[in-house]
Amino acid sequence: MLPIPATPVPTSPASFDSPSITPLPQRILLVENSRTFTTMLREAIEQRLELPVSVASSLAEAGELLDRESGWFLVLTGLVLADGDRDQVVSYFVDRGLPTIVVSGVYDEDLRKRVLQQQIIDYVLKNTPGSVDYLVWLVQRMDRNRRIAALVVDDSPSARAYAAALLSMYGYQVIEAADGSAALRAIEADPAIRLVIVDQEMPGMEGVELTRHLRALRARDKMAVIGISGNSDPSLIPRFLKNGANDFLRKPFSREEFFCRVSQNVDQLELIGTLQDLATRDFLTGLPNRRSFLEQSQRQLASAGTGDVSVAMVDIDHFKHINDSLGHEAGDQAIRAVAGVLQAHTRGHDISARFGGEEFCLLVAGMSASESTRHFEQLREAIAALHLQFAERSLRMTVSIGVCRMPLRAGALHQLITEADRQLYLAKAAGRNRVCSVQLP
Ligand code: GH3
Ligand code: MG
Ligand code: MG
Ligand code: MG
Repeated sequence: MLPIPATPVPTSPASFDSPSITPLPQRILLVENSRTFTTMLREAIEQRLELPVSVASSLAEAGELLDRESGWFLVLTGLVLADGDRDQVVSYFVDRGLPTIVVSGVYDEDLRKRVLQQQIIDYVLKNTPGSVDYLVWLVQRMDRNRRIAALVVDDSPSARAYAAALLSMYGYQVIEAADGSAALRAIEADPAIRLVIVDQEMPGMEGVELTRHLRALRARDKMAVIGISGNSDPSLIPRFLKNGANDFLRKPFSREEFFCRVSQNVDQLELIGTLQDLATRDFLTGLPNRRSFLEQSQRQLASAGTGDVSVAMVDIDHFKHINDSLGHEAGDQAIRAVAGVLQAHTRGHDISARFGGEEFCLLVAGMSASESTRHFEQLREAIAALHLQFAERSLRMTVSIGVCRMPLRAGALHQLITEADRQLYLAKAAGRNRVCSVQLP
């Protein structure tokens, strides 16, 4: 069994963009004859990962379930079942091409080695403290790996195929490159690559140099690089690390060691993403927060571009009344619903954020005066059309919007926000549920 990762399992790897959009299989099959453990594990997976779990206590039952349902993602199986034993049980699932984790009640080194020779993901002892936590982590790792692209760079076809096969087995989407320049082209072409395995001894460009180039293209918070080499030169590891590698593996490495290192590095990358999210996103709505809005907007205004830019302040009307009459929880849901409409009205380069309380801020570039007027009028109408239901009571709400528009230029953000705020005040004073805007020279 691999050590339990020291870092807490991040709840949302939100900074990882998914390279695939087809729905992935979700179903997990638990095959065990010990009820207590099965129930515990099933509840842990369903509650913490929200993945559907089915339970079988024999191979016959497992087979029935596998035939009846589709979309199987992972099998966790014990080794001793009423109608099957050890190798028989493992090959039953492996032969069907199902990623399989063995969960065993006994530790037996020979057995472990034999089982690990088959194409299983891991061999986990169930009666050790933390085994449920470890299995939940492992299932989550396998689930998330499917959305992560990994690049293997090695000039040796067999070494490359070995690393690629291991990564595929652990669910990663694998891309291969035979040399440094092919690797750099792959990274430039595919922004979804999050992990690179780099061999040191390659003709043309050696691994350390490639690592330096890779780092120049993608920062440490976006991609992990792991150097590999059979060379025992003691200066090699520090050279890899100083040039931007996250880790190093000496060839030949075992499957377990490889998976441990790779998982640890990918965990860390996700943790950084989660921390970045916590710092830049509003917890209630998932929208960027005020700080993130200001940073992104400054950047957008400083970028070369022409035409007008608009900032809009959006504030829910009489929101206090919603809280007072329906409760704070309903108020939160109303804020989330407005955020949803805002998001639906946000185009690629627009920025929308929760500024605080029941107030939102938008930055929209490249629209003419009439387009911008129509855009915010439509936004106001879409929010007024929302129909929320709380038990017996339904809720409608309106917003007031203040807009300031001016030609795109750096350093104008403060003025745009102040003027939009003033327009919002005018919209409130004029009776709410309306858009007031101003065009500045
Ligand atoms: P106006 O039409 O003038 O904007 O009136 P209003 O009642 O919407 O504005 P006011 O600023 O007086 O009240 C805003 C309220 O929003 C006060 C505050 O308790 C509530 N609020 C702020 N943040 C949250 C939140 O995260 N959730 C909930 N439920 N309420 C919040
Ligand atoms: Mg080589
Ligand atoms: Mg308000
Ligand atoms: Mg307000």
